[in-house]
Amino acid sequence: MATLFERIIAREIPSTVVYEDDGYIAIKDIAPKAPVHLLVIPKRVSTRLDKIEDAQQLGELMQTAIRVAKSQLQDYRLVINVGQGGGQEVFHTHVHILGGWEGGNPVG
Ligand code: 5GP
Repeated sequence: MATLFERIIAREIPSTVVYEDDGYIAIKDIAPKAPVHLLVIPKRVSTRLDKIEDAQQLGELMQTAIRVAKSQLQDYRLVINVGQGGGQEVFHTHVHILGGWEGGNPVG
């Protein structure tokens, strides 16, 4: 069965797309936890970050997250939840970009 994010990539579920290329899509999070909250999602599905063994794929994911973050924010926070205990709810690897707080990140 397709993951939620595969269905978003296929436009079966609507989302606000802020970036897309052959390998990645970045969308606005539906329930933002910061003034700017984006999700960077590889189109190649893996369930969680530590299932990606290929260093090039890992590097590309981080480069894409940084590129998208820098296109919208000067400073930002990147978060990757890994597994249920790590707070992961959607089992299709993704990077959260959070930022835009007045006076900086309140989380620390
Ligand atoms: P996780 O907890 O797996 O790291 O993050 C999943 C994120 O996906 C959550 O921040 C949640 O708000 C977001 N999300 C869940 N369903 C949807 C949806 O249908 N559309 C969008 N744009 N974001 C979603």
